[in-house]
Amino acid sequence: MQLPQTLMQYLNDVPGFMPEAFLVAHTLEAPVSVRVNPNKSYDLSHLLLDQRVPWSAQGFYLKERPSFTLDPGIHGGAYYVQEASSMFLEFALQQVLHDQQGLYALDLCAAPGGKATLLSSMPQFSLVLANEVIRTRVTILHENAVKWGEPKLLVSNNDPSAFNRLDGFFDVMVVDAPCSGSGLFRKDPSALNEWSEQNVKLCAARQQRILSDALPALKDGGVLVYSTCSYSPEEDEDILQWLVGEHGLSAIDLQIPQDWGIVKTASANGGIGYRFFPDKLKGEGFFVSCLQKTGGGKSGMRTASRYEKSIKSASYHQGLKTWVDEGLEIRVRSRGNELILIPAALEPALQELEQVLHLRKSGVRAGALMRDQFVPDHELVLSQYLSGSAPRIELTREEALRFLRKQDINPQGSRKGWFTVTHGGLPIGLIKHLGNRVNNYYPSSWRILMS
Ligand code: SAM
Repeated sequence: MQLPQTLMQYLNDVPGFMPEAFLVAHTLEAPVSVRVNPNKSYDLSHLLLDQRVPWSAQGFYLKERPSFTLDPGIHGGAYYVQEASSMFLEFALQQVLHDQQGLYALDLCAAPGGKATLLSSMPQFSLVLANEVIRTRVTILHENAVKWGEPKLLVSNNDPSAFNRLDGFFDVMVVDAPCSGSGLFRKDPSALNEWSEQNVKLCAARQQRILSDALPALKDGGVLVYSTCSYSPEEDEDILQWLVGEHGLSAIDLQIPQDWGIVKTASANGGIGYRFFPDKLKGEGFFVSCLQKTGGGKSGMRTASRYEKSIKSASYHQGLKTWVDEGLEIRVRSRGNELILIPAALEPALQELEQVLHLRKSGVRAGALMRDQFVPDHELVLSQYLSGSAPRIELTREEALRFLRKQDINPQGSRKGWFTVTHGGLPIGLIKHLGNRVNNYYPSSWRILMS
């Protein structure tokens, strides 16, 4: 692999850069890693899990790369294939937030959803908004959010400028910015063709624009996590310099075990960041920095008066009781004939978000009422809201793959009605048993195309 000479020259001044080792690392295969969903239970021994990713409680390297597409577990959201360096977000936020609870997080540049699903598994957050500006990329973000199954994970499709109308709304803002991508050259050599000095400059200008637009939505005292997968100082330390100098953010210094191989870096005015080099650790190129907003925004706890508005909610339809346990802190909302479930505590916040943003997922789509009959939805069976006693049929791996290809299946039993289909106990979708045949309700656009 021929790395751009100009990039190599620029990196000479970067802390921790060792050109020879760096070039050797680019001749090796990128490690494969997954992050396990702590709220779904599924046997992952077939994935050949290897060591743990040091900075992630749920991250594991794999001994070899399996065919993820042909594993029902990934379609049921049992795990997410995520590059190891980027899982560091969990360690950083854990250290900064300790055991605070009820926080609101925004993942501003969220597709395809690696960091957003990670945030939604952290107990510190009661609301995680995954936003993506590019409409075509929202589709995969939405799909991954549905599969992950966390009701507190919402999805929006807005330009960063829309967020300046949510003054001080979020406690944590993650900006995993679009960048020139040099950190992923080893994993995706095609990114080399798009790399140029000019593009690095364009990316840096765009990163500043995105941050300026969105920062008003971070509350005073709130935490910004800025990250890129670029090695270029223009997109890393220079942005830190600008965040500290122009926006008055202050650095957060993390305590990181030295043997992890993560390199501390800084801007001239005291910003602190961390660089991940593939020759020093098992992961790809990554840069991350945590900063605290100190002044200029709304602060403090949210007040009830700001959020209390009249709430129209639907009653708990009889049919829903088969699928969702009663007594959970859930609000049922109706939209046309659809029923949407949301965590009750989020209702006021959701109302505020709905006034400003284009929400693509606001809770869990439970199903629809058709002539007063409740028809369950795929989204419900993949979510944490699905009752353990909902009707279910276990499929073999072959049957599960036929189901996920949206082919006909003929599972055992002939009781009529709607069933969750599971593999290894993990819900992967819905069927309707008609007695003499079975209708497969797997979403067409998600079906496996690989033979
Ligand atoms: N955080 C994601 C994850 O962990 O899966 C990866 C995000 S990727 C590095 C950057 C994202 O920013 C892309 O999804 C891209 O579509 C989006 N993006 C591109 N241009 C943007 C812009 N002008 N404003 C905000 N986001 C943008």
